[in-house]
Amino acid sequence: MYENKKNMQIGGVEIATKHENNPASELAHKQEQMIKVIAREKTLIDIMSFSVDTLDIKEIIKSIITKAGKLFKADRCFFVEYDADSNENHPLREYEEYLSLKNIRSHLTRPTTKEDVEAFLRVTRQKKASFIEDVNKIDLPEASRKMLVDDLSVKSYATLPVFHGNIMYGTLVLHYVNDFMQFTKDDMEVAQAIANQSAVVFHHAKLYQKLQSQADREKLLREIVSAISSTLDFNEIRQMLVSKLGCALNSDISILYIRDTKTEKFLPVDEYSLHLSSNKMPSPLGLNIIEDYEWSKYIKHNKKPDITYSDIEDLKKDYKLHGTKAEEFLDKYNIKSMLAIPIIHAGTFLGFLVLNFVKERKNFTNDDINLAKIVANQAGTTLYQSKLYFEAQSASQAKSEFIANMSHEIRTPLNIIIGFSDLLSKSEVDSKKQVKYLQNINNSGKHLLNLTNDIINISKIESGNFTLDYEKIDMELLIMDVINSIKLISGNKKMSADLAPACIFADKKILTQILYNLLNNAIKFTSDHGEIKIKSVLEKDKLMVSIEDDGIGIDSKDLSLIFDKFKQVDSSVGRPQQGAGLGLAIAKKLVELLDGVIQVESTKGKGSHFWFVLPKAEKKSNVI
Ligand code: ADP
Repeated sequence: MYENKKNMQIGGVEIATKHENNPASELAHKQEQMIKVIAREKTLIDIMSFSVDTLDIKEIIKSIITKAGKLFKADRCFFVEYDADSNENHPLREYEEYLSLKNIRSHLTRPTTKEDVEAFLRVTRQKKASFIEDVNKIDLPEASRKMLVDDLSVKSYATLPVFHGNIMYGTLVLHYVNDFMQFTKDDMEVAQAIANQSAVVFHHAKLYQKLQSQADREKLLREIVSAISSTLDFNEIRQMLVSKLGCALNSDISILYIRDTKTEKFLPVDEYSLHLSSNKMPSPLGLNIIEDYEWSKYIKHNKKPDITYSDIEDLKKDYKLHGTKAEEFLDKYNIKSMLAIPIIHAGTFLGFLVLNFVKERKNFTNDDINLAKIVANQAGTTLYQSKLYFEAQSASQAKSEFIANMSHEIRTPLNIIIGFSDLLSKSEVDSKKQVKYLQNINNSGKHLLNLTNDIINISKIESGNFTLDYEKIDMELLIMDVINSIKLISGNKKMSADLAPACIFADKKILTQILYNLLNNAIKFTSDHGEIKIKSVLEKDKLMVSIEDDGIGIDSKDLSLIFDKFKQVDSSVGRPQQGAGLGLAIAKKLVELLDGVIQVESTKGKGSHFWFVLPKAEKKSNVI
């Protein structure tokens, strides 16, 4: 192989390669051959000793290409690494190229095209070394010829796929730019031996790398899990979750979408649910795009474990995002890849962890997906516990508020009863006053009775100790009965009814109670000349009853709370309306006992609209 070069240099010694036909030159030739063999053996031993010296892939590649390049007198030698996870070759990196002289054009100075990557992939997959002495004498695809001849001025080349068993590690390439190269049989054998030996070294290094990265992942996982488990603060957990996992997987925009299990809606992105890789990243704070993803529903129903899209265009196609706000979001934020993992605890869908990649496309490895899955799994438990803790705390706060409120609610009628009975016991009270005082005592007694009934009712429902008596009910009649009975306390408020004739199977006592509670509130929270509209509509197998008032209304932030026990928007002792905060909690539980749903819409200062929908239900068992 060296015959076409004037001189060769091995181990820093320059030796004349031409030999004349005399014993001295023959000796020199033999010496030269021996040195060649030694150099080759030395290179092979050097490569072999890598497995002992270093397990750093970068170092290994750098050293193999330098040694092979020098040994075979190549002008350019490089290694194209194959990535088994993505089934693609890596674009060439700086440490993967050796150049014999500074004036040789670097492969790195030309952009790596898709065709280049494919060409190398083809070569690697062939698993066969090839040695081309004159690039002009062979058939080459147009793109390869352009790369080799036009861009890199290659005259001869060799490609050596690096394999260990069936595992592909890449291709070692030798380029000759200045002269044509004639590969001898011996060259080919040695080159192949170097490729084989490199494969062994790669194999060890990769195994080591895998173990190392497994250990790193385990460590990372322990850190993330212990961080999110170290607190019961809901916001802190969310923040740690997005930031830790986002950083671990190098995501640019990490978002944790939390689903409100009551309203079944996702909460908009807030500061605790967002982590950006840098402050240059556009921030989706306040947005709520998850509702637009068809796949959020898909996952909810199919419990598909995870979604990974290296190419976001595939996601757009698969989930039919064309024209949706989700597509707008992906385009506007220039998202290239996405990993989305649902957070599920004991079958309840709590949210979504979405990692968006903007700077570059991400090829997800199994390790990445597993890490995200384990973290999401743990997050499910932690978020659930934190929610329980939060609920327990607010329940205890609500109870304290309730006790303060109840003492007021009980003390007022009791004081009235005691006060007026004291007055009555005095002989000078005339008969007109006696009637008025007795009326007051009676009203206060009734109020106390109602209060006690509410408390008994809610505890009965909650303990499951409630019997349902199903019967056929004429709803028009029942609603009118409740309206008429409540009219006594409605004062000047206008009440109108637009009722559909309908019969349903339900429990009359329960229905009366639901209607009474809702109408009572509408009257209570409406001004003296306000208006209350009652409507019922029969749709297929469902009946909808709605009660609308133009009273004080409810702030949107309080809407999700009012159905909780003891919750009042204004729970101050001085509030004008009576009540213990149980009416809606009872109404909701009773509607649910009848397999229905209750909902509300309200605007503060404008009024409220409560409605419930019940099944017409033909027949039901009587006990729950
Ligand atoms: P309360 O006994 O306090 O009325 P509820 O459970 O019936 O308890 O209602 C809870 C809270 O919801 C009320 O205290 C009130 O703040 C609000 N609310 C209920 N109905 C209405 C309504 N029609 N208009 C305005 N606010 C309402």
